[in-house]
Amino acid sequence: MPEEGINKREFLSTATGALWGAKLTAQAQGRPPNVVLIYADDLGYGDLGCYGSRIPTPYLDHLAANGARFTNFYSASPVCSPSRAALLTGRYPTRSGVTAVLMPDDRFGLPATETTIAQTLKPAGYRTMCVGKWHLGSAAPFLPTNHGFDEYYGVPYSNDMWPLKLLHNTDIIEDPTNLTTLAERYTGQAVNFINRSKSSPFFLYLAHHIPHIPLTPSEHFKGASGLGPYGDSVAELDWSVGQVLRALAANRLSGDTLVMFASDNGPWFQGSTGRLQGRKGGTFEGGVRVPFIARFPRRIPRGQVCQGVSTTMDILPTVARLAGAPLPAHVLDGVDIWPMLTGETDEAERDLLLYFDGWNLQCARSGKWKLHVSRYNSIAWTPDPPGGRYNLPLPNPELYDLAADPEESYDTAGDNPQIAARIRSRMEELLPTFPGPVMNAWLTTMSYKVQGGPAGALPVRVA
Ligand code: MG
Repeated sequence: MPEEGINKREFLSTATGALWGAKLTAQAQGRPPNVVLIYADDLGYGDLGCYGSRIPTPYLDHLAANGARFTNFYSASPVCSPSRAALLTGRYPTRSGVTAVLMPDDRFGLPATETTIAQTLKPAGYRTMCVGKWHLGSAAPFLPTNHGFDEYYGVPYSNDMWPLKLLHNTDIIEDPTNLTTLAERYTGQAVNFINRSKSSPFFLYLAHHIPHIPLTPSEHFKGASGLGPYGDSVAELDWSVGQVLRALAANRLSGDTLVMFASDNGPWFQGSTGRLQGRKGGTFEGGVRVPFIARFPRRIPRGQVCQGVSTTMDILPTVARLAGAPLPAHVLDGVDIWPMLTGETDEAERDLLLYFDGWNLQCARSGKWKLHVSRYNSIAWTPDPPGGRYNLPLPNPELYDLAADPEESYDTAGDNPQIAARIRSRMEELLPTFPGPVMNAWLTTMSYKVQGGPAGALPVRVA
């Protein structure tokens, strides 16, 4: 594919950020941009070619080469449902209450009091469609069509859950769903939506179910990567992205469309974290740091690498700004990262980035520093150990310099006690700004101590 747009140097030399921004704002006044958000499931930070993987991902590499690629981008949760709640609302999942993975028979989901990206964009005249994995409640009141999406096509939870029902809007159209052809059908739905949405701005949320287990690449992709079913599934995901990009180009919409790609959490049994520690289900970097790529020809300089801290929660305020849509009236945790995307700034102004697991606040990041204050004695997807699963306070909170040590191998709290104390203090200041269960979980965790040596260690509550 040819290169698109301009690079950062050309971008800054063509006009100052202000002048360029003013010109583009004027251009955009006639019609707000289309937004395509593609979300992978359990794709690791190191699973794309442009992030160092051996898996062939030419389309995503092309997208990164013609836009911005982020190296410190985070999901707000290490598991599926809370990650998606945060993505679509711009808020930590502890605010919406979606703090755990939802099951098919759960009668709970994303509350109606939350405002999704789709609901934010609807008043600005957007057509909206969700294709793929929803996982924010499968009972009727919680489905996408009750959260701002005009249309829905997909399995409303993970592909390893049963019964595996495929929905069109609220109707079951297949049960059980044929997983081998599902990625191809999701792609077809996405392309079809683009083809019939030229007359108005649109928001397409394509939430693939891959490479989450079970790994079921289509016949065409079996053996395509030389890296087993996981590699084949990532290759198929990349193909799907390519079809979406081709559809935009065929409709002459590439220049009017912001395309974003991310993953909901780190890799599970297979997949690469890019040498980051931890995996899905934990708050080490491998569980929550994910790829993020954004392309908007002539508006985002091509070939940018953004190293500043950013999160899926930033997408809602950023998109709202581009669309000229008012922000939801409640507290948002994401910030507008448009100045990062355009290269005007390296870092967005934000408070601590918090790492929750369920209701538990376990870590916080401030600039290059990350402080761990508590940790489970078992990660989420392994059987509970004898004595049960507890979120336990670390006897000595651990401080990592993620710029020098992204693997979180060397605790430097002893060398930097004031930094550790400052972050810890700010975490405690922020606790009361969250719903009550967050403080309750904190107080419960901090009331434990570990009894005995490592072999027989059991937590006991401190009186
Ligand atoms: Mg996931």
